[in-house]
Amino acid sequence: MSKRCYYEVLGVAREASIEDIKGAYRKLAKEHHPDRNSGDKSSEHKFKEINEAYDVLKDGNKRAAYDRFGHAAFEHGGGGRPPGFDFASSFTDVFDDLFGEFMGGGAKRGRRQNRGGDLRYNMELSLEEAYSGKNAQIRVPTAVKCEACEGSGAEHGSKPETCTACGGQGKVRATQGFFTIERTCPKCRGAGRVVRNPCRDCGGAGLLQKERTLSVDIPPGVEEGTRIRLSGEGQAGLNGGPPGDLYIFLSLRQHAIFQRDAQDLYCRVPIGMAMAALGGEIEVPTLNGSNAKITIPEGTQTGRQFKLRGCGMPILKGHGHLGDLFVEVRVETPVKLSKKQKELLRAFDAESAGTQPETENFFAKMKEFLGGGAQ
Ligand SMILES: [Zn+2]
Ligand SMILES: [Zn+2]
Repeated sequence: MSKRCYYEVLGVAREASIEDIKGAYRKLAKEHHPDRNSGDKSSEHKFKEINEAYDVLKDGNKRAAYDRFGHAAFEHGGGGRPPGFDFASSFTDVFDDLFGEFMGGGAKRGRRQNRGGDLRYNMELSLEEAYSGKNAQIRVPTAVKCEACEGSGAEHGSKPETCTACGGQGKVRATQGFFTIERTCPKCRGAGRVVRNPCRDCGGAGLLQKERTLSVDIPPGVEEGTRIRLSGEGQAGLNGGPPGDLYIFLSLRQHAIFQRDAQDLYCRVPIGMAMAALGGEIEVPTLNGSNAKITIPEGTQTGRQFKLRGCGMPILKGHGHLGDLFVEVRVETPVKLSKKQKELLRAFDAESAGTQPETENFFAKMKEFLGGGAQ
């Protein structure tokens, strides 16, 4: 289910003024108001969509966050996020054509936005790794400052010159009639500087594409969707601008035995009919490496849950606190019985009066119900 772009929902351009947004909202809200379209599900959905979009776009801060991160900016609640963890989204993918962005899109944005792009790195972890945390070495292809020219883009011994067309402003003004129009300087493409002798290592870009190896500490307790921000480890900035950030998006592999719900773990353990009836002891694995023992009481029914306190997942930034492990036992009905086993079970069944109260109770009720219906 992908969400529609908020601008699209309101039918306005990305650069629309707040007045335009208000106007578009009023018109659409009137059209799709539930009072006018009672019972129309699609109108109801649209009305919600419109309100959600307006709620974000009418607020300058929210709108800026949305412009930068898309819907992901609001996917997680604002409160209580641990420091060092950021839940922003919508990044240049690591494997995007990095230079394409710098030479094309980057330059178009002009001098103001010289901060390097953010990078996204997807990492998959096993449940065991999420349990104990880990140190990972990741290789990130990224644009880094060219050492040969120290990022200036000019060949050793020369310097970039201030652009004569714009005087280093990156923008030029042209007067047309009564209007003065400001636009990106065509000579330096907004950089404000012109490199006459381009650096041989980087071709004048001031940046080189390199694969860096970063060491990342994944803390214990991370979950599916946790994002870790490495501040300043994104792409290098242009014209001496600050670098972007690197975001590590974590996902977890399915585990063969355990299901996870936040800090708690769940598993199902089959036990035999005799064990369920007579009681006994079973061992279940835990993620801390040792097996835990569970005492199965006499007469245990299928579906009964046993709680192993502190055998769940560590709580992220929870100072060593752990969730619980819930073990559900399933009584397995034996199959492929031998002749002798069948005989034993028949003999057992003949002696079973009073040992299965629930079954007996049910049939007693059924008898009563059938008897009552006949009157
Ligand atoms: Zn260079
Ligand atoms: Zn210029």
